[in-house]
Amino acid sequence: MIPPAFAYHRPASVSEATALLADLGEDARPLAGGHSLIPMMKLRLASPEHLVDLAGIATLKGISPDGSDIVIGAMTTQHELIASDLLAAKTPILRETALLIADPQVRYMGTVGGNVANGDPGNDLPAVMMCLGATYHVTGRNGERRIPARQFYRSAYVTALAPDEILTAVRIPVPPAGHGAAYEKLKRKVGDYATAAAAVVLTLNGDRIGTCSIGLTNVADTPLWAEEAGKIIAGSSLDGATVKRAIAAAEAITSPAADARGPVEYRTKMAGVMLARALTRAREHAR
Ligand SMILES: Cc1cc2nc3c(=O)[nH]c(=O)nc-3n(C[C@H](O)[C@H](O)[C@H](O)COP(=O)(O)OP(=O)(O)OC[C@H]3O[C@@H](n4cnc5c(N)ncnc54)[C@H](O)[C@@H]3O)c2cc1C
Repeated sequence: MIPPAFAYHRPASVSEATALLADLGEDARPLAGGHSLIPMMKLRLASPEHLVDLAGIATLKGISPDGSDIVIGAMTTQHELIASDLLAAKTPILRETALLIADPQVRYMGTVGGNVANGDPGNDLPAVMMCLGATYHVTGRNGERRIPARQFYRSAYVTALAPDEILTAVRIPVPPAGHGAAYEKLKRKVGDYATAAAAVVLTLNGDRIGTCSIGLTNVADTPLWAEEAGKIIAGSSLDGATVKRAIAAAEAITSPAADARGPVEYRTKMAGVMLARALTRAREHAR
């Protein structure tokens, strides 16, 4: 299918891009890797009259340390997450998650910024960013603001971004050395979106869990940060009764849609199963 006609703009700087978005108004959309937006346009689920391509803005690329954080430019591709030695050493959950996104062809084009700004609850990186306590750098005509990932998602395809704003970077606090993390994703086949998925980042305190943060993918109309479930796990020995309570707390905040990936009850239970697996594997990594 061919998308409807649109005008193509290729700014060379963030200020040029935000000025274009502000001037063109709600008929304009940023274009990153195009691997969500172009399919939506082909299906007539989106029909922007103007596409503002961010590919010509060199400052939006790259992965670099900044004090105790790592900053990832919005136009960094999902493949580049996998190839980064810095991320492999400091936040391996990003590499693990990126490897579960679609297939190599999508990951060569699809960007980090596009994945987290899209607002599709099926995208894998948002729940991981919530789990890691990441912050999004956002720039619009009136300047820059920073939005915690945990406050960014409002409902399906609705985020805290204003129409004239672009997401320029994601800032991730590096988890402590010796932390353990895991992303468990149930999918029907290679390249599919999650039926349910869970991200866990934890630290150990002797034989017990020190801190624990949990994110859930595709089991509500937004990605979820399962704060209560993480609190239940923190301080425990990850014994069966505690894990059961945490699973119940996580399941309680889900509200998945019944679709081709399964009925509501199944997807809710699979969120719990993914969480149990992610907890076990994260603890193994920490050890
Ligand atoms: C076959 C297939 C399978 C897929 N499977 C998965 C999967 O399993 N898991 C997964 O997570 N994703 C999956 N995807 C989606 C893929 O990861 C996309 O690349 C991603 O969702 C969007 O990133 P993009 O760079 O392609 O953004 P685009 O498609 O260009 O943009 C997506 C949306 O975000 C907005 N946007 C993009 N960049 C910015 C920015 N910097 N600031 C503000 N707004 C911005 C655009 O305006 C648009 O609304 C799949 C895609 C395909 C085609």
